[in-house]
Amino acid sequence: MFFKRIVRAIKNIPWFLYESWTWEYESCKDCGKTFRVLWAVDDKTWKFVMGNAEGCFCVACFVKRANKVGLTLTKESFTIFEVFNP
Ligand SMILES: [Zn+2]
Repeated sequence: MFFKRIVRAIKNIPWFLYESWTWEYESCKDCGKTFRVLWAVDDKTWKFVMGNAEGCFCVACFVKRANKVGLTLTKESFTIFEVFNP
């Protein structure tokens, strides 16, 4: 599993570079990936997870940060969760 993940990540590098150059919308401040999901949480949840950090983060990075502070998110945690089709 570990090896497969590494291979997939490496295979994705050209696409990541291409999108980084061509994407005209927001990208994640943590991982740099482009947004395919629009999401939001209430202010209290954002503050608890992010402190005073501002900006755009992908949902995967937000979930990772929430786990780091001991918060388990559910779909009810999100006030907006929609597919972004530019
Ligand atoms: Zn991210």
